[in-house]
Amino acid sequence: MTDYDTFDGRFRSLVIGTAAVERLWTGGRWTEGPIHVPAAKAVIWSDIPEDRIMRYDETSGAVSVFEHPCGYHNGHTLDACGRIVACEHGGRRISRLGFDGHWETIVDRFDGKRLNSPNDVVVKSDGSIWFSDPSYGIDSDYEGRAAKSEIGACNVYRHDPHTGETTTVVTSLDRPNGLAFSPDERTLFVSNTSLSDTPAIHAFDIAEDGRMVDGGRIFAVSDAGFFDGFRLDRMGNIWTSSGDGVRVYAADGTLLGRINIPETVSNLCFGGRKRNRLYITATSSLYAVYVYATPADRPVTSPESAAHPGNR
Ligand code: MG
Repeated sequence: MTDYDTFDGRFRSLVIGTAAVERLWTGGRWTEGPIHVPAAKAVIWSDIPEDRIMRYDETSGAVSVFEHPCGYHNGHTLDACGRIVACEHGGRRISRLGFDGHWETIVDRFDGKRLNSPNDVVVKSDGSIWFSDPSYGIDSDYEGRAAKSEIGACNVYRHDPHTGETTTVVTSLDRPNGLAFSPDERTLFVSNTSLSDTPAIHAFDIAEDGRMVDGGRIFAVSDAGFFDGFRLDRMGNIWTSSGDGVRVYAADGTLLGRINIPETVSNLCFGGRKRNRLYITATSSLYAVYVYATPADRPVTSPESAAHPGNR
């Protein structure tokens, strides 16, 4: 199997034909939620069924357990201060790793009811925290703890840390999963991993107030498994997980190419000293490959957001 399949010539300006896909670590059960932590020169990711967070040291190449047990973490991101923000299946909450080394709850309820099991999270430049809340962590004991949904729906929410208010932004998808903003933060992309719907990434235009979204449209449909987590580069291309590797879509929705990975891919993130190394979680393993692309920066709207402009 070659590492790359090109479907559109633009793909050649994004990947390095001579750069091979490396498997950095294996031994997990279902890996997810990678995030590059520049200040630590490390990548952390979740091994959800094992209830542990793993850590790859970019300097030494060593892999170790970052935390176990951890509350069945799934997705991670960084806030504008570079702190890790996490989705917890077990804790059924969005949490943040404080500078004192303790996880603090950011939000665990909507309308007085417990969240299902937050899956993926992004922090917007205004500090608001957007996250998906499907039911995978309460459907069984494998990726969390079996429980009944109190909310009775799987939504995407926006949490405002300044007011403490949590509101729904997407209620139309059966199983909202991965999410990311376009580089200008005018579009929210959300994948739907429902067994009863077409596997797709949906695009929602964000209103001028930066809070509400429109009814959405299908951005891309998968013919090979689900789109789970994904990231955007600074050109607005979407680098997404799929059943047959990492697929790259242009902002206009054209499938440009694919990086072939021998396991089902769940998620990815950009990292490395020059932010040009793609880290990929795929079923039991962590992979990496150097690329020409670099991640979309968070728009700078305040001194706080300037502190850590990219890599969410
Ligand atoms: Mg996910």
